[in-house]
Amino acid sequence: FDIRDYKPTGNERDFENALRPLRFEDFSGQDKVVDNLRIFVKAARLRAEALDHVLLHGPPGLGKTTLSNIIANELGVGFKVTSGPVLDKPGDLAGVLTSLEPNDVLFIDEIHRLSPVVEEYLYSAMEDYRIDIMIDKGPSARSIQIDLNPFTLVGATTRSGLLTAPLRARFGINLHLEYYDDSVLSRIVLRSAGILGVPCDTDAAGEIASRSRGTPRIANALLRRVRDFAQVKGSGRIDLKIARYALEALNIDRYGLDQIDNKLLCTIIDKFKGGPVGLTTIATALGEDPGTLEEVYEPFLIKEGFLKRTPRGREVTDLAYKHLGKNKYTIERT
Ligand code: ADP
Repeated sequence: FDIRDYKPTGNERDFENALRPLRFEDFSGQDKVVDNLRIFVKAARLRAEALDHVLLHGPPGLGKTTLSNIIANELGVGFKVTSGPVLDKPGDLAGVLTSLEPNDVLFIDEIHRLSPVVEEYLYSAMEDYRIDIMIDKGPSARSIQIDLNPFTLVGATTRSGLLTAPLRARFGINLHLEYYDDSVLSRIVLRSAGILGVPCDTDAAGEIASRSRGTPRIANALLRRVRDFAQVKGSGRIDLKIARYALEALNIDRYGLDQIDNKLLCTIIDKFKGGPVGLTTIATALGEDPGTLEEVYEPFLIKEGFLKRTPRGREVTDLAYKHLGKNKYTIERT
Protein backbone atom coordinates (compact mmCIF):
# COMPACT_ATOMS: atom_id res chain seq x y z
CA PHE A 1 0.00 0.00 0.00
CA ASP A 2 1.16 3.51 -0.66
CA ILE A 3 2.26 4.70 2.68
CA ARG A 4 2.57 8.39 1.98
CA ASP A 5 -0.96 9.04 0.82
CA TYR A 6 -2.35 6.78 3.47
CA LYS A 7 -5.23 8.67 5.04
CA PRO A 8 -7.26 6.44 7.28
CA THR A 9 -10.99 6.07 6.66
CA GLY A 10 -13.74 4.11 8.43
CA ASN A 11 -12.36 1.39 10.66
CA GLU A 12 -8.83 2.59 10.23
CA ARG A 13 -9.79 6.07 11.38
CA ASP A 14 -11.37 4.64 14.52
CA PHE A 15 -8.19 2.67 15.04
CA GLU A 16 -6.08 5.80 14.65
CA ASN A 17 -8.29 7.79 17.01
CA ALA A 18 -8.06 5.07 19.64
CA LEU A 19 -4.28 5.41 19.60
CA ARG A 20 -4.18 9.19 19.66
CA PRO A 21 -2.45 10.58 22.75
CA LEU A 22 -4.68 13.07 24.58
CA ARG A 23 -2.11 14.72 26.87
CA PHE A 24 1.40 16.06 26.44
CA GLU A 25 2.74 13.31 28.69
CA ASP A 26 1.53 10.60 26.29
CA PHE A 27 2.97 12.32 23.24
CA SER A 28 6.47 10.99 22.52
CA GLY A 29 9.21 12.90 20.74
CA GLN A 30 9.23 16.43 19.25
CA ASP A 31 10.69 17.49 22.58
CA LYS A 32 11.46 21.08 21.68
CA VAL A 33 8.03 21.69 20.19
CA VAL A 34 6.31 20.12 23.17
CA ASP A 35 8.43 21.98 25.74
CA ASN A 36 7.57 25.29 24.12
CA LEU A 37 3.91 24.48 23.81
CA ARG A 38 3.69 23.47 27.46
CA ILE A 39 4.93 26.92 28.46
CA PHE A 40 2.64 28.82 26.10
CA VAL A 41 -0.35 26.77 27.20
CA LYS A 42 0.42 27.26 30.85
CA ALA A 43 0.83 31.01 30.41
CA ALA A 44 -2.45 31.29 28.51
CA ARG A 45 -4.19 29.31 31.26
CA LEU A 46 -2.76 31.51 33.99
CA ARG A 47 -4.05 34.61 32.23
CA ALA A 48 -7.33 32.90 31.30
CA GLU A 49 -6.79 34.09 27.75
CA ALA A 50 -6.93 32.44 24.37
CA LEU A 51 -3.59 30.97 23.36
CA ASP A 52 -1.90 32.75 20.41
CA HIS A 53 -2.61 31.23 17.02
CA VAL A 54 -0.35 28.26 16.28
CA LEU A 55 1.00 27.11 12.92
CA LEU A 56 2.19 23.50 12.81
CA HIS A 57 4.09 22.45 9.74
CA GLY A 58 5.72 19.22 8.73
CA PRO A 59 5.14 16.02 6.77
CA PRO A 60 1.90 14.02 7.05
CA GLY A 61 1.36 11.63 9.94
CA LEU A 62 3.81 13.26 12.38
CA GLY A 63 1.19 14.37 14.89
CA LYS A 64 -0.16 17.79 13.87
CA THR A 65 -3.80 16.84 14.46
CA THR A 66 -2.86 15.00 17.63
CA LEU A 67 -0.95 17.97 19.03
CA SER A 68 -3.72 20.42 18.31
CA ASN A 69 -6.16 18.16 20.13
CA ILE A 70 -3.73 17.96 23.04
CA ILE A 71 -3.44 21.76 23.10
CA ALA A 72 -7.22 22.04 23.50
CA ASN A 73 -7.26 19.36 26.22
CA GLU A 74 -4.43 20.96 28.13
CA LEU A 75 -6.07 24.38 27.87
CA GLY A 76 -9.30 22.79 29.06
CA VAL A 77 -11.29 24.24 26.16
CA GLY A 78 -13.41 22.92 23.29
CA PHE A 79 -11.94 21.63 20.04
CA LYS A 80 -13.36 21.97 16.54
CA VAL A 81 -11.84 20.49 13.40
CA THR A 82 -12.12 21.57 9.79
CA SER A 83 -9.84 21.79 6.78
CA GLY A 84 -8.81 24.19 4.03
CA PRO A 85 -10.56 22.40 1.15
CA VAL A 86 -13.80 21.98 3.16
CA LEU A 87 -14.17 25.73 3.80
CA ASP A 88 -15.45 26.55 0.38
CA LYS A 89 -17.16 29.91 0.97
CA PRO A 90 -16.74 32.67 3.56
CA GLY A 91 -20.14 31.59 4.94
CA ASP A 92 -18.71 28.16 5.82
CA LEU A 93 -15.96 29.79 7.84
CA ALA A 94 -18.37 32.23 9.48
CA GLY A 95 -20.53 29.29 10.57
CA VAL A 96 -17.62 27.58 12.28
CA LEU A 97 -16.23 30.74 13.86
CA THR A 98 -19.53 31.85 15.35
CA SER A 99 -20.01 28.45 16.95
CA LEU A 100 -16.83 28.74 19.04
CA GLU A 101 -17.00 29.18 22.82
CA PRO A 102 -14.52 31.55 24.51
CA ASN A 103 -10.88 30.42 24.10
CA ASP A 104 -11.79 27.31 22.06
CA VAL A 105 -9.30 25.76 19.67
CA LEU A 106 -10.20 25.67 15.99
CA PHE A 107 -8.03 23.30 13.98
CA ILE A 108 -7.75 23.92 10.24
CA ASP A 109 -5.92 21.08 8.50
CA GLU A 110 -4.28 21.73 5.13
CA ILE A 111 -4.53 25.43 5.73
CA HIS A 112 -2.46 26.13 2.60
CA ARG A 113 -5.49 24.99 0.60
CA LEU A 114 -7.85 27.75 1.79
CA SER A 115 -9.36 29.70 -1.07
CA PRO A 116 -8.13 33.32 -1.23
CA VAL A 117 -11.54 34.79 -0.31
CA VAL A 118 -11.90 32.58 2.74
CA GLU A 119 -8.33 33.31 3.73
CA GLU A 120 -8.97 37.03 3.57
CA TYR A 121 -11.92 36.54 5.86
CA LEU A 122 -9.80 34.74 8.34
CA TYR A 123 -7.47 37.73 8.75
CA SER A 124 -9.84 39.92 10.76
CA ALA A 125 -11.12 36.89 12.67
CA MET A 126 -7.58 36.04 13.75
CA GLU A 127 -6.56 39.59 14.44
CA ASP A 128 -9.59 41.24 16.06
CA TYR A 129 -11.93 38.29 16.68
CA ARG A 130 -14.33 39.96 14.31
CA ILE A 131 -15.83 39.17 10.92
CA ASP A 132 -17.82 41.14 8.39
CA ILE A 133 -20.54 39.26 6.64
CA MET A 134 -22.57 40.33 3.67
CA ILE A 135 -26.28 39.95 3.94
CA ASP A 136 -28.74 40.24 1.09
CA LYS A 137 -27.83 40.59 -2.54
CA GLY A 138 -28.04 43.34 -5.11
CA PRO A 139 -28.93 46.92 -4.09
CA SER A 140 -29.91 46.03 -0.53
CA ALA A 141 -26.67 44.13 0.08
CA ARG A 142 -24.85 45.38 3.15
CA SER A 143 -22.22 44.09 5.45
CA ILE A 144 -22.63 43.62 9.16
CA GLN A 145 -19.91 43.10 11.69
CA ILE A 146 -20.03 40.20 14.08
CA ASP A 147 -17.92 39.92 17.21
CA LEU A 148 -16.50 36.48 17.86
CA ASN A 149 -15.40 34.87 21.08
CA PRO A 150 -11.62 34.89 21.46
CA PHE A 151 -10.25 31.65 20.03
CA THR A 152 -7.03 29.93 19.06
CA LEU A 153 -6.55 28.93 15.47
CA VAL A 154 -4.24 25.97 15.02
CA GLY A 155 -3.32 25.68 11.36
CA ALA A 156 -1.57 22.60 9.99
CA THR A 157 0.26 22.33 6.71
CA THR A 158 2.60 19.99 4.91
CA ARG A 159 3.55 22.82 2.56
CA SER A 160 4.42 25.89 4.56
CA GLY A 161 6.09 27.29 1.42
CA LEU A 162 2.63 27.72 -0.08
CA LEU A 163 1.32 29.86 2.76
CA THR A 164 0.87 33.52 1.89
CA ALA A 165 2.94 36.03 3.87
CA PRO A 166 -0.11 37.80 5.41
CA LEU A 167 -1.50 34.53 6.72
CA ARG A 168 1.82 33.34 8.07
CA ALA A 169 2.31 36.69 9.83
CA ARG A 170 -0.88 36.17 11.83
CA PHE A 171 0.44 33.13 13.67
CA GLY A 172 2.20 34.07 16.90
CA ILE A 173 3.56 30.55 17.37
CA ASN A 174 5.20 28.77 14.49
CA LEU A 175 6.42 25.19 14.99
CA HIS A 176 7.99 22.60 12.76
CA LEU A 177 7.56 18.86 13.32
CA GLU A 178 10.47 16.60 12.40
CA TYR A 179 10.61 12.95 11.43
CA TYR A 180 10.94 10.72 14.50
CA ASP A 181 13.97 8.69 15.48
CA ASP A 182 13.53 4.94 15.59
CA SER A 183 13.89 4.84 19.37
CA VAL A 184 10.95 7.22 19.83
CA LEU A 185 8.90 5.37 17.21
CA SER A 186 9.63 2.15 19.06
CA ARG A 187 8.15 3.66 22.18
CA ILE A 188 5.08 4.72 20.23
CA VAL A 189 4.67 1.18 18.83
CA LEU A 190 4.91 -0.32 22.32
CA ARG A 191 2.40 2.16 23.67
CA SER A 192 -0.02 1.41 20.82
CA ALA A 193 0.42 -2.34 21.29
CA GLY A 194 -0.39 -1.84 24.96
CA ILE A 195 -3.60 0.01 24.11
CA LEU A 196 -4.54 -2.71 21.62
CA GLY A 197 -3.78 -5.38 24.19
CA VAL A 198 -1.26 -7.20 21.95
CA PRO A 199 1.93 -8.42 23.58
CA CYS A 200 4.88 -7.03 21.64
CA ASP A 201 8.59 -7.62 22.20
CA THR A 202 10.90 -4.61 22.32
CA ASP A 203 13.05 -5.82 19.42
CA ALA A 204 9.94 -6.44 17.33
CA ALA A 205 8.75 -2.89 18.06
CA GLY A 206 12.19 -1.69 16.95
CA GLU A 207 11.86 -3.61 13.69
CA ILE A 208 8.47 -2.04 12.98
CA ALA A 209 9.80 1.40 13.94
CA SER A 210 12.80 1.18 11.63
CA ARG A 211 10.55 0.54 8.66
CA SER A 212 8.08 3.32 9.41
CA ARG A 213 9.68 6.19 7.53
CA GLY A 214 10.08 8.22 10.71
CA THR A 215 6.28 8.52 10.91
CA PRO A 216 3.99 7.49 13.80
CA ARG A 217 0.99 7.06 11.49
CA ILE A 218 2.91 4.51 9.45
CA ALA A 219 4.24 2.81 12.60
CA ASN A 220 0.70 2.34 13.88
CA ALA A 221 -0.56 1.13 10.51
CA LEU A 222 2.26 -1.42 10.25
CA LEU A 223 1.61 -2.55 13.82
CA ARG A 224 -1.99 -3.20 12.85
CA ARG A 225 -0.92 -5.37 9.90
CA VAL A 226 1.76 -7.22 11.87
CA ARG A 227 -0.80 -7.95 14.58
CA ASP A 228 -2.90 -9.75 11.94
CA PHE A 229 0.05 -11.97 11.05
CA ALA A 230 0.81 -12.64 14.71
CA GLN A 231 -2.75 -13.70 15.35
CA VAL A 232 -3.16 -15.85 12.26
CA LYS A 233 0.34 -17.25 11.71
CA GLY A 234 1.79 -17.06 15.19
CA SER A 235 0.79 -17.24 18.81
CA GLY A 236 -0.71 -13.76 18.96
CA ARG A 237 2.45 -12.32 20.45
CA ILE A 238 4.47 -9.98 18.22
CA ASP A 239 8.05 -11.20 18.37
CA LEU A 240 10.94 -10.31 16.09
CA LYS A 241 10.45 -13.36 13.89
CA ILE A 242 6.79 -12.73 13.14
CA ALA A 243 7.42 -8.97 12.72
CA ARG A 244 10.11 -9.65 10.12
CA TYR A 245 7.99 -12.27 8.40
CA ALA A 246 4.99 -9.92 8.19
CA LEU A 247 7.00 -6.92 6.99
CA GLU A 248 8.61 -9.03 4.27
CA ALA A 249 5.23 -10.40 3.23
CA LEU A 250 3.88 -6.86 3.05
CA ASN A 251 6.82 -5.82 0.90
CA ILE A 252 7.84 -3.04 3.26
CA ASP A 253 11.20 -1.58 2.38
CA ARG A 254 13.99 -2.16 4.88
CA TYR A 255 14.35 1.56 5.49
CA GLY A 256 10.68 2.35 5.10
CA LEU A 257 11.24 4.05 1.74
CA ASP A 258 8.16 4.16 -0.44
CA GLN A 259 7.67 4.18 -4.20
CA ILE A 260 8.12 7.91 -4.54
CA ASP A 261 11.36 7.85 -2.55
CA ASN A 262 12.70 5.05 -4.70
CA LYS A 263 11.60 6.73 -7.90
CA LEU A 264 13.30 9.97 -6.92
CA LEU A 265 16.58 8.24 -6.10
CA CYS A 266 16.45 6.03 -9.23
CA THR A 267 15.78 9.05 -11.44
CA ILE A 268 18.84 10.86 -10.14
CA ILE A 269 20.97 7.75 -10.58
CA ASP A 270 19.68 6.62 -13.95
CA LYS A 271 19.15 9.95 -15.67
CA PHE A 272 21.69 12.21 -14.01
CA LYS A 273 24.52 9.84 -13.06
CA GLY A 274 23.72 10.26 -9.39
CA GLY A 275 23.97 14.07 -9.52
CA PRO A 276 24.70 16.76 -8.62
CA VAL A 277 21.61 17.91 -10.45
CA GLY A 278 19.39 20.94 -9.94
CA LEU A 279 16.07 20.71 -8.15
CA THR A 280 13.99 21.96 -11.09
CA THR A 281 15.66 19.52 -13.47
CA ILE A 282 14.75 16.58 -11.22
CA ALA A 283 11.25 17.97 -10.77
CA THR A 284 10.74 18.14 -14.54
CA ALA A 285 12.04 14.60 -14.99
CA LEU A 286 9.59 13.35 -12.35
CA GLY A 287 6.69 15.51 -13.50
CA GLU A 288 6.53 17.03 -10.02
CA ASP A 289 6.46 20.53 -8.64
CA PRO A 290 9.88 21.60 -7.25
CA GLY A 291 8.30 22.93 -4.03
CA THR A 292 6.65 19.58 -3.29
CA LEU A 293 9.90 17.81 -4.00
CA GLU A 294 11.81 20.07 -1.65
CA GLU A 295 9.28 20.23 1.20
CA VAL A 296 7.64 16.82 1.05
CA TYR A 297 9.88 14.26 -0.65
CA GLU A 298 13.43 15.29 0.11
CA PRO A 299 13.61 15.87 3.89
CA PHE A 300 13.30 12.20 4.88
CA LEU A 301 15.82 11.06 2.27
CA ILE A 302 18.26 13.69 3.48
CA LYS A 303 17.72 12.83 7.14
CA GLU A 304 18.34 9.15 6.47
CA GLY A 305 21.45 9.84 4.40
CA PHE A 306 20.21 8.80 0.94
CA LEU A 307 20.42 12.24 -0.58
CA LYS A 308 22.60 15.33 -0.13
CA ARG A 309 21.99 18.98 -0.96
CA THR A 310 25.18 20.45 -2.39
CA PRO A 311 25.83 23.91 -3.81
CA ARG A 312 25.70 22.36 -7.30
CA GLY A 313 22.47 20.47 -6.73
CA ARG A 314 21.17 17.19 -5.35
CA GLU A 315 23.41 14.17 -5.13
CA VAL A 316 22.56 10.62 -4.10
CA THR A 317 24.87 8.91 -1.60
CA ASP A 318 26.60 5.51 -1.66
CA LEU A 319 23.91 4.27 0.70
CA ALA A 320 21.29 4.97 -1.98
CA TYR A 321 23.24 2.97 -4.59
CA LYS A 322 23.65 0.13 -2.16
CA HIS A 323 20.04 0.13 -1.05
CA LEU A 324 18.72 0.17 -4.61
CA GLY A 325 21.17 -2.55 -5.63
CA LYS A 326 22.78 -0.31 -8.22
CA ASN A 327 26.46 -0.25 -8.98
CA LYS A 328 27.82 3.27 -8.98
CA TYR A 329 30.71 2.63 -11.34
CA THR A 330 28.88 0.59 -13.95
CA ILE A 331 26.30 3.33 -14.18
CA GLU A 332 28.90 6.06 -14.42
CA ARG A 333 30.64 4.31 -17.33
CA THR A 334 27.54 3.66 -19.43
P1 ADP B 1 -0.91 14.63 11.11
O1 ADP B 1 -2.05 15.47 11.56
O2 ADP B 1 0.42 15.31 11.25
O3 ADP B 1 -1.07 14.06 9.73
P2 ADP B 1 -1.81 12.82 13.21
O4 ADP B 1 -1.82 13.75 14.36
O5 ADP B 1 -3.14 12.50 12.60
O6 ADP B 1 -0.81 13.35 12.09
O7 ADP B 1 -1.11 11.47 13.70
C1 ADP B 1 -1.26 10.26 13.02
C2 ADP B 1 -1.29 9.10 13.99
O8 ADP B 1 -0.03 8.97 14.61
C3 ADP B 1 -2.31 9.23 15.11
O9 ADP B 1 -2.97 8.01 15.27
C4 ADP B 1 -1.52 9.50 16.35
O10 ADP B 1 -2.04 8.76 17.40
C5 ADP B 1 -0.15 8.97 16.03
N1 ADP B 1 0.88 9.87 16.57
C6 ADP B 1 1.38 10.98 15.98
N2 ADP B 1 2.34 11.54 16.72
C7 ADP B 1 2.46 10.79 17.83
C8 ADP B 1 3.30 10.86 18.99
N3 ADP B 1 4.23 11.81 19.13
N4 ADP B 1 3.14 9.92 19.96
C9 ADP B 1 2.23 8.94 19.79
N5 ADP B 1 1.42 8.81 18.73
C10 ADP B 1 1.53 9.72 17.75
